[in-house]
Amino acid sequence: MKIAVVGAGAMGSLFGGLLAESGAEVWLFDIWAEQIAAINQNGLNIEKDGHPRRVHIKATTDPDHIEKADLVIVFVKSPQTRPAADIAGKLVGSEGLVLTLQNGMGNADIIAETVADDRIVAGTTAHGATLLAPGRIRHAGTGATIIGMWAGKNLDHADRIACVMTQAGIETEVVQNVQSVIWNKLLINVGINAITALTGIKNGQILDLEITQNLLQAAVEEAMSVTRAQGIQVDENTVEHVFQVAKATGANRSSMGQDVDNKRLTEIDAINGAVVRIAEKLGLKVPVNLTLTALVKTLQHLF
Ligand code: NAD
Repeated sequence: MKIAVVGAGAMGSLFGGLLAESGAEVWLFDIWAEQIAAINQNGLNIEKDGHPRRVHIKATTDPDHIEKADLVIVFVKSPQTRPAADIAGKLVGSEGLVLTLQNGMGNADIIAETVADDRIVAGTTAHGATLLAPGRIRHAGTGATIIGMWAGKNLDHADRIACVMTQAGIETEVVQNVQSVIWNKLLINVGINAITALTGIKNGQILDLEITQNLLQAAVEEAMSVTRAQGIQVDENTVEHVFQVAKATGANRSSMGQDVDNKRLTEIDAINGAVVRIAEKLGLKVPVNLTLTALVKTLQHLF
């Protein structure tokens, strides 16, 4: 299978590297010249459990070097989804598919502006990766990847992708209603990311004070009502689950926290901001998410 990855940062390099190791023909595309130069010079270095290994993989900053692909994986951060979707639209073959496993809501809809919506596969992944240096990543965690068709009903497409990914060691399950899976993951990011980004604390420190616990709970409960108002099922114990995730990842800074630390645009518009946008359409009030979104956007306006 010919695969192109648009956004070869931590996750794009990880997925591209694993797929290349399993025998797929993979191209990595990124606008970050240093990353691409390092991968072309030394191969992609993937470290797992303290053991580094090198993967030989084609990488470019010029999409014209890449032939039409059977699968294009978009793995940029959500503020860059629109330009990445334009490239994905050019790279995907007429029978090809575009996959997004990005966090947040709205990425698949943006991709659907350039790619037919029945060719879009979306989902979530519990794999984690960290960029160590140009050309070097850490495979920080493994877990389930869940995908489904964004609009089309033909699950054969998603099954084909799941098969290729599972062969590459990315255990992938296909579901009928992927919206529900994406919303349920979003609820975790809604509760943890903005609070940690605004305050500078680690995920676990949310649990140290009753006031931050209450803030997490209020943000998640608002987002749960927005999810339910769209007819999407939500687990009753979601708030408790988000507390457990904050505890289990207690020593980590959330990805939004790291973005703020490094003065990079955050994924706020695809997380709490998405809750606000959809609530407005449904006539619901979500003051906590509105405030968290406004504060993170104010902060990033200063970068
Ligand atoms: P990252 O910042 O490491 O990588 C993003 C890459 O996209 C960068 O290398 C950047 O140069 C590149 N890029 C930016 N604009 C581009 C463009 N127009 N065309 C091509 N490339 C472009 O981010 P990441 O951690 O890999 O995260 C990617 C997505 O996956 C995010 O939505 C994130 O929330 C999600 N995610 C991350 C993890 C994780 O552990 N890192 C886990 C699950 C989901």
